[in-house]
Amino acid sequence: MYYSDCHVHTFFSPDSKTHPREHIEQAIRLGMDSLCFTDHMDFDYPPQYQISFDLDPKAYFPYMQKLRDEYDGKLKIRTGVEIGLETACQQQISEYIQSNPWDFVIGSIHLSGRLDPYFADYFEGRTVREAYRAYFGSMLSCLEAFDPIFDTLGHLDYIFRCGDQSITDAWSEWPDLMDAILRLLLDKGIGLEVNTGGIKSGLTFQHPHDHLLARYRELGGELITLGSDAHSPDHLGDYFAQTGERLKALGFRYYAVFADRKPAFLAL
Ligand SMILES: [Zn+2]
Ligand SMILES: [Zn+2]
Repeated sequence: MYYSDCHVHTFFSPDSKTHPREHIEQAIRLGMDSLCFTDHMDFDYPPQYQISFDLDPKAYFPYMQKLRDEYDGKLKIRTGVEIGLETACQQQISEYIQSNPWDFVIGSIHLSGRLDPYFADYFEGRTVREAYRAYFGSMLSCLEAFDPIFDTLGHLDYIFRCGDQSITDAWSEWPDLMDAILRLLLDKGIGLEVNTGGIKSGLTFQHPHDHLLARYRELGGELITLGSDAHSPDHLGDYFAQTGERLKALGFRYYAVFADRKPAFLAL
């Protein structure tokens, strides 16, 4: 298996302090073929959290281009973004994606009902089950509303990193809803990200859970991407070997790595 990490954050994201060069050096040490930076952009992030996930392409692209030139022949460096999907910001998101030369775009749900499940206020006044279910409802609404302007759906069951983790298997809880989400991805030609970032938060599986991956495969899904969601270099490529084995056991043979918004398929 050729490793390539396609979900990586740097100091261009407010929740990471990592210099891109630290990730690059680590990727080379790990023998990776390529690396895609995917810093955060979330339009209209709720002000009560007092943080802003703004990524300025005018600063980002020239910075990454210098590193691409410097490491040419040593590591393929790609410039991507993880964009927060919100139906209210559809127009801005669409323009932002289409007016910049991204290699790869991850679409993620970071908000539901104008609240971020990373924070406790998301869970107030409802059961954990209701709070989890609401997140997937927001995801379905976004997938229905958005044209396929992004390449892959980020960390599908990310919500289980938050709350008390009393539920971690969305397929067993809400099979019809999850089926609708997976079918929309297939209908729209959007990939499904396999994200190993939840394991360090205490989950025993990658996003999405094996049951969702098995269902996606059963429906004919093959377009998976792979990312660690590393915010520091020690998490780059986290759990990729074991996740690769798991994916093969579930019937996947390849994962996609994007450049210029086009997938190339690498063997697992
Ligand atoms: Zn995310
Ligand atoms: Zn991320």
